[in-house]
Amino acid sequence: MPSTVYLNSLHDLHFDNQYTGRLPADPIAENYTRQVAGACYSFVEPLKTPSPNLISYSQDAANLLNLSSDTCDSSDFLQAFSGNCLLDKMNPYATRYGGHQFGNWAGQLGDGRAINLGEIINSSEQRWALQLKGSGPTPYSRRADGLAVLRSSVREFLCSEAMYHLGVPTTRALSLMTTGNQVVRDMFYDGNQKAEPGAVICRLAPSFTRFGHFQIHASRGETELLKQLIDFTIITDFPHLGAPSPETYISWFQEICDSTAEMVVQWMRVGFVHGVMNTDNMSILGLTIDYGPYGWLEDFDPGWTPNTTDAEGRRYSFGNQPEMAMWNLAQLGNALLPVIEDLEAVQLAYNSYQHTFQNSWREMMSQKLGFDALDVQTDPDLFDELLALLTSVETDMTIFFRNLARVELTNGKQFEDMDAVPAPLLDAYYQPEQLTDAYKKHLFQWLNLYSNRLEKNTSTNAQRQEKMNSVNPKYVLRNYLAQLAIDKSEQGDHSMVNELLMLFRKPYDEQPDKEEFAKKRPEWARHKAGCSMLSCSS
Ligand code: AMP
Ligand code: MG
Repeated sequence: MPSTVYLNSLHDLHFDNQYTGRLPADPIAENYTRQVAGACYSFVEPLKTPSPNLISYSQDAANLLNLSSDTCDSSDFLQAFSGNCLLDKMNPYATRYGGHQFGNWAGQLGDGRAINLGEIINSSEQRWALQLKGSGPTPYSRRADGLAVLRSSVREFLCSEAMYHLGVPTTRALSLMTTGNQVVRDMFYDGNQKAEPGAVICRLAPSFTRFGHFQIHASRGETELLKQLIDFTIITDFPHLGAPSPETYISWFQEICDSTAEMVVQWMRVGFVHGVMNTDNMSILGLTIDYGPYGWLEDFDPGWTPNTTDAEGRRYSFGNQPEMAMWNLAQLGNALLPVIEDLEAVQLAYNSYQHTFQNSWREMMSQKLGFDALDVQTDPDLFDELLALLTSVETDMTIFFRNLARVELTNGKQFEDMDAVPAPLLDAYYQPEQLTDAYKKHLFQWLNLYSNRLEKNTSTNAQRQEKMNSVNPKYVLRNYLAQLAIDKSEQGDHSMVNELLMLFRKPYDEQPDKEEFAKKRPEWARHKAGCSMLSCSS
């Protein structure tokens, strides 16, 4: 890996603010809640914070901006990324977008508590947009305060970086700071208000454009502006597609369908549940964006959602995510039609989603099982059998796949009725009493099919294990782990935030001194707030 070039100071960052340079701004300069028309964004200043305190920063993310650890530890960094003091070329703004929330059109939403600071070109000529989250109200804040609490900021900060290292497309997180303010939240919307420490994170992405950015213009009949935003997005974020044209529009939409499918496949691989897949939370680049009431599957239950707000409909449950992504793409496709005008071509690109998703999902599953190559004739049945097995008793998804690699299956080893559950798998079960004879029979049947299938592999057992370990993480950000880090952080001890940040730099490696973080969820966390139940309140 080439070594990172570091800037002497924050003031050497190379800004290239295309979004504000090329797209129309809201002419109103005052910061008050309103419906904005005929513009893509509003200029707005971040709120000053009384006593910012740097809790953590990600050196991996800082490297993307060529910022050294000395720079990240400087007071300039603290002031700039708490929103207290703008750098010269920063021209902060909040963008205008709309969205479908839980299936219903919600009208104008927008950056209600996100403020963009500008775009950086780094030493590798990559573009990185900088965005503060939790830095005060904007014209898009509706009835809310534009602030974020420590709890949700720790969750977004850690998960963004963990997802990156897990190989899942995601926005990045540079820094996490407390502001010194107290922020009042009613965590479960049940009348129990509480003051919590306020926090701000700075996140990074090549672009923060969402499906909803296009939807708002379509819904308001702003066709010229819609075209301007489409052309801008293609030129800035998809330069490889060439100059905007009717053909480019289609290949662009096709690429969005493909990358969205790929992102969801990666979520399914690691057991991630986004929790709020509204169209305003869908990135045009196929990045995981807006970490709110997300969660990680512990028990493999396709119907599980961490979001209590969605507990009844389970619209965004683990197993529904592929379909919901497709539903969202349909809304995007509709929004683009006034400009693309070719319904048939849009439909064709859209229809390919299912095919792309299925192929990519099967490839992913074949890697999770350590096959040399996917056999489309026989493997899909084996995958279906496995999913049925995993849902039949409470099984920890992460541990099951990781430890399956350790089950010796050389020479077509077969399990008999009287055999015991292979020792490595025992760790994966939450309720040992569920391991009945009927379950064991089911498990052995599947293991025997798997063992037979492995006969087609040319790789050795050890090679299979190595391959499987590179796609089946040892460590995921289990909900209770994030909550333990939050509990300590709220008491002023931020050590676990930093410990988890370091742990998740290598989620596929064995880290013997961190074994405790790979264990299955302890029983006390089964129904605890923050561990199994989360809400949109953040
Ligand atoms: P979310 O479901 O968190 O993605 O948020 C949906 C919309 O609500 C977005 O437009 C957010 O900017 C806005 N929003 C969420 N929380 C706040 C807040 N505390 N203050 C202002 N706007 C918010
Ligand atoms: Mg959002």
